[in-house]
This record gives sequence, structure tokens and C-alpha cells, in this order.
Amino acid sequence: MAEVQTLPATLRRFQATDEGFRWETVPLKHYKPEGTHFRDITRQVLFGPESGLPAELRYFEVEPGGYSTFERHEHVHAVLILRGRGRAIVGEQLFEVQPFDLIHVPAWTWHQFQAAEDEALGFLCMVAVDRDRPTRPTPEEAEQLRRHPVIGPHVRL
Ligand code: MN
Repeated sequence: MAEVQTLPATLRRFQATDEGFRWETVPLKHYKPEGTHFRDITRQVLFGPESGLPAELRYFEVEPGGYSTFERHEHVHAVLILRGRGRAIVGEQLFEVQPFDLIHVPAWTWHQFQAAEDEALGFLCMVAVDRDRPTRPTPEEAEQLRRHPVIGPHVRL
């Protein structure tokens, strides 16, 4: 099978499997190569730098009860929920999300995606190819975030 990175613009079929949404020849990856501040989440790069765009389109799937890293960075996210239910924390707001909802994460805005306790959450996320590394809250910021009246009870740090 050809490496996905060398494929020309061809059709890659969608496959709904027992393990989640997959696309032909697209490797299933760990959410991040290292770290402990997330739980039960996978990553698939549907369109990477080889697409010729200055953007990447990734698909993340969060198992029930799982969550992405609580982080912020200069680059922005454009997110489309594709399956399941869960919660998006963006800045000081908390959103219950469902399929086809759109979420924009502005620059330097704290964010986290959490699956419902009883249902997975799958979403597309578009980012710039050239982007900075995410940063996590300092201990002082974490303390403030935990005391926030809206998001405090829900943040997973
Ligand atoms: Mn992010």
C-alpha cells in the first residue's frame, strides 16, 4: 500500500468501524506523541502538508469520558463536530456540542474538548501548517481556572 504522504489527490473512502471513524490509508495516530494531560483520544491527519494547502485537516476521536489537553497557542482552530456528544471549553465559555456544530478557537484562547461520559466525540479540526507549540496553564493560572464560576467545575487539567 502506498504511503499516504505520496498519494496524489485521490478518493479515500470513509469507513465507520467498531473502533470509530476511519478513512482508507489514513493512519490512526496517538493524539500527541507524549504527555499525560489528555485521555483516550486518537488523531488522523486527513489532509496534511502534502495537500498543497497552508492548512491541515485532522480528525480527532475522543472516547467516552476522554478529553483533549487544556491548552492555548497563537494559532487558531476551526472545528466541525462530526459525531457524538460532548463539551467544548473555549475561553470563559462552556458549550454542549453535537454533530455539525462549528467552533472557532481564537488565538491565545484556552480550550479543551471533552467527550460525554457515555458517548464518544469526533471532530474535524483545521489548523495552519506553520504553527506554534501549545502551552498549558502555569500553576497560578490553573488555580485561577479552577476557581472560574463557569468553566472551573469542568476543566480537566
Ligand atoms: Mn489546540
